Amino acid sequence: MIEVLISSEQIKERVKQMGKEITEYYKDKTDTIHAVCVLKGSIHFFSDLVQNIDLNVEYSFIQVASYSGVSSTGRIRVKSWIDEPIENKYVIVVEDILDTGLTLSYILDYLRRYRPADLKVVTLLKKLGRNSQVTPDFVGFEIEDKFVIGYGLDYNEKYRNLPYVGWVKGNG
Ligand code: 5GP
Repeated sequence: MIEVLISSEQIKERVKQMGKEITEYYKDKTDTIHAVCVLKGSIHFFSDLVQNIDLNVEYSFIQVASYSGVSSTGRIRVKSWIDEPIENKYVIVVEDILDTGLTLSYILDYLRRYRPADLKVVTLLKKLGRNSQVTPDFVGFEIEDKFVIGYGLDYNEKYRNLPYVGWVKGNG
């Protein structure tokens, strides 16, 4: 049994606003940004967000694994990484959800070594009451500390294609 937490319409509306906020932030600084999609969970958010940004947007895709099932394994494994130089570029990392921030702080530490002109973080969801190691620059929704699924987020590779964010009752 899945309970809807954030509807497809709510996501669409908020992502549109976020695109405007991001465009506003960069427009006096640069006409081109480099967006890094953190796979697999960010796929839908990334795709919808970049279409609402009124700048040239270059894409990179990275994949790291830190979770198995519903709890963190505490391990991070890089499966694929950026394939273009980002030195002196305006880089924005696009995340699906920020929980402990462990995954993201690892990614950011590595990206900083390439000396981008600017490095920002946008996340669709941020869990309230969790001590995150990273402070995101743009946040879509703050949510309760529940294990959520849908709109890219999975539970053992299931539920990614749901158009809304929800949670599986019994796994909260
Ligand atoms: P963190 O390193 O911030 O603790 O966890 C980040 C990653 O763990 C996310 O990118 C996501 O893949 C996964 N994750 C954290 N919380 C959830 C959740 O509630 N649901 C799902 N499906 N994945 C989560």
